[in-house]
Amino acid sequence: MRQPDHKPSVYLGLCRQMARLSRDGNTQVGAVIIGSDGRMCGIGYNGPPPQVDDAKVLWNERHDDLPSKYTALIHADEAAILDSLRKGHARDLPTATMYVTGKPCSHCMLRIINAGIRRVVYDPGVKPRCVGLIDQKKTAHLLSILKPGCEVTVEPYEEPA
Ligand SMILES: [Zn+2]
Repeated sequence: MRQPDHKPSVYLGLCRQMARLSRDGNTQVGAVIIGSDGRMCGIGYNGPPPQVDDAKVLWNERHDDLPSKYTALIHADEAAILDSLRKGHARDLPTATMYVTGKPCSHCMLRIINAGIRRVVYDPGVKPRCVGLIDQKKTAHLLSILKPGCEVTVEPYEEPA
């Protein structure tokens, strides 16, 4: 009898741990990218890039009706892609899987597509917070206009029966 593959739940558990590193008091998201050989390509969480001083981010102010923090933050999905590229995994991304605690926003989905990632698995227990560019209708539209052969699957994780 084949043993159930628990690794996706392990990877999503790792995403939840990564999310805890975020200093965003409102939304904490974590992402990991795992190559087809099981190697970790990149990790990320939502927050400012390392060059930005966390303590100087305007976490609770608003500008043009959007939180000011948005000007200084990178989403977890994008951070994991950049981490993968920094580590030399660009060629591994088309066969890799991105795991993320929440369904990617349209902004990140564009970057996921551009990076060549073809499969995303997210934790369905984490509700996306829809503000501005974090629009699931835009994400669905973007996925619907991909060229044949360039499809990206975005699936909720399901516990093995
Ligand atoms: Zn995003």
